[in-house]
Amino acid sequence: MARYTGPVCKQCRREGMKLFLKGTKCMTDKCPLEHRNYPPGQHGQRRVKFTEYGLRLREKQKLRRIYGVLERQFRNYFYRASRMPGLTGENLVKLLESRLDNVVYRMGFASSRKEARQMVRHGHFVVNGRKVNIPSYLVKPGDVIEVREKSKNMVRIQESLELAEHRGVFPWLEVDLEAKRGTFKAVPQFEDIPLPVDVSLIVELYSK
Ligand code: SF4
Repeated sequence: MARYTGPVCKQCRREGMKLFLKGTKCMTDKCPLEHRNYPPGQHGQRRVKFTEYGLRLREKQKLRRIYGVLERQFRNYFYRASRMPGLTGENLVKLLESRLDNVVYRMGFASSRKEARQMVRHGHFVVNGRKVNIPSYLVKPGDVIEVREKSKNMVRIQESLELAEHRGVFPWLEVDLEAKRGTFKAVPQFEDIPLPVDVSLIVELYSK
């Protein structure tokens, strides 16, 4: 399964904001954005005026990078969202939010979506009692996600849960920290999802 393996922090620098792709490091002053808040590369410190296309492209890249999805898969999500009832931009975000790796991250079992993806691949989670190791698996309302019995004592999960306390509680999730189990109660309302992205610009980009 293809995934991005290049430098991660450069993605935040390109977008000019913290995308929280590295877990613990993002909360410390080791975050490169604290010292070099300008795009990477030789001409990174030049002032750039974005064209309309450039603005839309940046919004799309931002959303894609936050959820760690490659271009083709992102486009497929977009087409799927455009065929669903309702607003395409909102549907797109709801689909991305329903990915198993994202749900694991939101529940606090991993410190970043990247880590969540790896843990799902390594088979540390069960959905409704059955092992699922596909990060893009779309979780449905009512699904119960649980850390597998043999993985419950992993230090990494414990540390992630402690870190997650700072991220707050999401209304569409219910998490039992003791049992290391969570329920995806419903597809989240678009307004409840904390995202620094203007999805209407992404719709405009793909609608050209
Ligand atoms: Fe982004 Fe985190 Fe790297 Fe900072 S440490 S640049 S927030 S991925």
